[in-house]
Amino acid sequence: VKASAVVAKLMEMGMMVTINQSVDQETATLVASEFEFETKDVSFHESSLLETAPQEDPDNLKPRPPVVTVMGHVDHGKTTLLDALREGRVASAEHGGITQHIGAYDVETSHGHVTFLDTPGHEAFTAMRARGAKLTDVVVLVVAADDGVMPQTKEAIDHAKAAEVPLVVALNKIDASGATPQKVLQQLSEYGVLSEQWGGDVQVFEISAKKRQGLQELLEGIAVQAEMMNLQANPDCKASGVVIEAQLDRGRGPLVTLLLQAGTLKQGDWIVAGQYSGRVRSLLDSQGQQLKQVGPCVPVQILGLSGVPKPGDSCHCVEGDRVAKLIATHRSQQQRERELIHSGGASLENVLQKTSEKENKLLRLIIKTDVFGSLEAVEAAVKGLSTSQVEVEIVHSGVGTITESDVNLALTTGAHVIGFHSKPDSKAQKRATRSKLTLYSCHVIYDMVDQVRQLMQSLLDPVFEEVVLGQAQVRQIFSVSKLGKIAGCVVSEGVMARSAHVRVKRGEELLCTSRISGLRRFKEDVRRVEAGYECGIEVEGFNDWQEADVLECFERKQTEAKLTD
Ligand code: GDP
Repeated sequence: VKASAVVAKLMEMGMMVTINQSVDQETATLVASEFEFETKDVSFHESSLLETAPQEDPDNLKPRPPVVTVMGHVDHGKTTLLDALREGRVASAEHGGITQHIGAYDVETSHGHVTFLDTPGHEAFTAMRARGAKLTDVVVLVVAADDGVMPQTKEAIDHAKAAEVPLVVALNKIDASGATPQKVLQQLSEYGVLSEQWGGDVQVFEISAKKRQGLQELLEGIAVQAEMMNLQANPDCKASGVVIEAQLDRGRGPLVTLLLQAGTLKQGDWIVAGQYSGRVRSLLDSQGQQLKQVGPCVPVQILGLSGVPKPGDSCHCVEGDRVAKLIATHRSQQQRERELIHSGGASLENVLQKTSEKENKLLRLIIKTDVFGSLEAVEAAVKGLSTSQVEVEIVHSGVGTITESDVNLALTTGAHVIGFHSKPDSKAQKRATRSKLTLYSCHVIYDMVDQVRQLMQSLLDPVFEEVVLGQAQVRQIFSVSKLGKIAGCVVSEGVMARSAHVRVKRGEELLCTSRISGLRRFKEDVRRVEAGYECGIEVEGFNDWQEADVLECFERKQTEAKLTD
């Protein structure tokens, strides 16, 4: 059938299309039937290749470890607690904030294993949830007993509530002199977190992460909470799970931390994770020990993928090489299409065009981080900083060192480059130095936020404050042949200063605002004349003096503009 006939038919059906347009499946079927053809859907459906777990037969389900996320206000001790639970290997070497661990680890208790997600903070939790990865079974809310409920504590409570995840409270820093646990319980109850002690159902444990006190009780408490939830998974189906963390290991290639939600993954299995596929070359537990296989909710690092997927990407075990590659290729194609639609083609011209369309109060950033987990958190934190005065736009972000191409992009788009646990390579550093571009580097997310706010502030128009220096009155007017008219004045208040700003007033009327271009005592040029003295004053661009005019001398002091929200 000729294309023009199809177009005509579609128009008859009320669809104004051109020959280059694509139509959806239903329309295609309809129009084909008009020409008495049948259609067959041959498009690629991932679901036909991925065995999604059927409605689980309860008989197949076995208990699984709970997955725990630690949340709470900054400096209340999340990192210290996570480190203490893992027996503080990294505690002291750590820069705080976001960690560069493998993303999860497991701990044994007398009630079984407990798996901890190792990125403290809400950003990571929400970023994962935004990607549809509902991983967390229990939230441990860390509250410092000497500081009480703070904004991020409330946020954590809200996040946990929204995700319908139960809380276990760790009242930390119980060793601190200012610890007031009862007061904190009171505050928590105001936010609907009622401890068992107060007749509610939330377990609260008084601990000291620093002194390693009360940790065993906390662990048992988490395990008990999990037991009550009767968490189960089928270890015998095809393995599927979620990417927790991923990075490129120089020697070994992509190193990916997974948490299975069902099934058992073995060495040699073919998997697809996000846009990448591969055969599992080796499985390592959170202590770096080789494993032969791993079941649901036990963190494992795998080697063998063809690239670095993103945290939150789903991961599936598939039949073999062919299927794995087919799905991975299809996904990356889809991703490219999405990006094209999203960005209208991510070419430099596009970036530049976007630049010129926007108003000037726009802070552009290029962000590089060491691992994907940090990237999401950092991006989320930075994006949230936009205010009504300055918008923050991330021109580009990625994992790895800051490269020459990052610097080039920064130079062409007027962006700032910030590395989070990421340094420039030597070429990038050279290029930046040559072009006088500062490369910022941060190790703690809060420093990064500060840095970005400073950069935002630097974009604001400077604010000028007027400081009045003094006043003078015109007593007499002199004509000087070369100079024109000079006002003979008496300084009545403060000082008159050469080159300072001046307002000339006649009664209430403002005659001009200009600068003092000449200031003389007798015949001498002077810089300042104090109150009580006489002087001759010239004002730039003003000649029309009359006696009794008033001169008000002032300075404009530039003060740094502040972000108002
Ligand atoms: P995060 O921001 O929540 O990850 O907090 P950190 O784990 O980095 O801890 C913040 C500060 O609190 C650090 O100086 C810790 O040494 C201190 N800290 C953590 N736990 C305790 C504790 O149990 N007792 C006392 N006194 N200090 C603690």
